[in-house]
Amino acid sequence: MKGAALRSAAAAVLSAAAAAFPQTAQCGIAVTFPAQGAKLPCIEKCHCIGAVEPGARLEINGTEIKPYRTGAFIAMLGTTPGATNTLVFVSGDERLERSFFVSGPQEKAAIPPPAPVSNPDADERVEKPWRAYKAKANVFMNRVRSLPGDGESLAFLPEGFTVQGAPMKDGKNAAIWIDGRFAFIDSSRIAECGGDLPDRSKAAPDISEGFPEKPSGKPAGSIKILIDPGHGKSDTGTRSPHGWCEKDANLAQAKAIRDELAKAGFDTVMTREDDSFPALYDRPLQAYSMHADAFISIHHNANPPQSDPRTARHTVAYASNGRGLELAKAIQKHVAAALPGVKNKGAQTASYAVCRNPAVPSCLLEIDFLNLPEGEEAVFFDTERRERVAKAVVRGVKDWAGLE
Ligand SMILES: [Zn+2]
Repeated sequence: MKGAALRSAAAAVLSAAAAAFPQTAQCGIAVTFPAQGAKLPCIEKCHCIGAVEPGARLEINGTEIKPYRTGAFIAMLGTTPGATNTLVFVSGDERLERSFFVSGPQEKAAIPPPAPVSNPDADERVEKPWRAYKAKANVFMNRVRSLPGDGESLAFLPEGFTVQGAPMKDGKNAAIWIDGRFAFIDSSRIAECGGDLPDRSKAAPDISEGFPEKPSGKPAGSIKILIDPGHGKSDTGTRSPHGWCEKDANLAQAKAIRDELAKAGFDTVMTREDDSFPALYDRPLQAYSMHADAFISIHHNANPPQSDPRTARHTVAYASNGRGLELAKAIQKHVAAALPGVKNKGAQTASYAVCRNPAVPSCLLEIDFLNLPEGEEAVFFDTERRERVAKAVVRGVKDWAGLE
């Protein structure tokens, strides 16, 4: 197809996508980023994404920008820090102005002093005497850390688990003793409970007990997989040039993965099947409570304003621990192969809330960049692409589980 035929074909798939995933702006020029009135950090350039009618011409501040086949566009623009910046978009008879503020260098936040790492005297650092405390929230929220508000995850306390603790002087964290070690937890996650003072050497609970590292030897039908479409409801995630939301892209891709896994005989469940928002920590809790064999969170990426989506583009999988990383590696190998031309950043470790589960192998896929026209924005209208990625995920899960 060429010229007008190509444009009308593009317009047809786009109007079908627009009906399923409505964009917010319904005029000839839609600008997704920067938003009107946005306050951006101190940067000297920023990307701008949006869409015009397929085939239409576009000028931004008098410079012609060539939109993609779908009408989506990307431009990199110089900015003036410390000032309101205005962009004027012209496409045919349409004219749109967009103003946003770019912070000046003096508005950069002061760097806070580093948190103390060594602990010369535990008693010096707490506000009140040591007492018995019990964990009161979801086990994955009750994360014990090696540093206040930071550091590595040392343990996860099931609700009702008691420890010797005391509030810290910073008001945000509590100190506790676990395995004979001075450690930290968010103070909102524990409550004083009275009773005997638990021993400082009390062992950290092993919440991975009874959970295999891998479902080796099990047939697909007894392997339970929880698929998590990231974000939902008012948490939209990132946006595509046409203004479509990541939460919808994640759901569409997750359903395709669920369907392919089901076809391969796996026992599959979703954290959400519609535009709802399961609380962040309820997602790993669901995997834990249902004794899932694997948890896979589906996301689509975007890059910071000062970088160009065209060069930032990559595919990557994240995990937080060894058993998650094995799953992430197996899946990412096939997902990357299904996305030729997209840079593969492989499987990496990162401390995401949905991946920290020490019991259920968990990973988070950032499949591609949603703010890229003809990149992952296509997830909204290209069912072949969704199925290709879904089949790749299934191949990865099968490799990981030692099937076929
Ligand atoms: Zn996301």
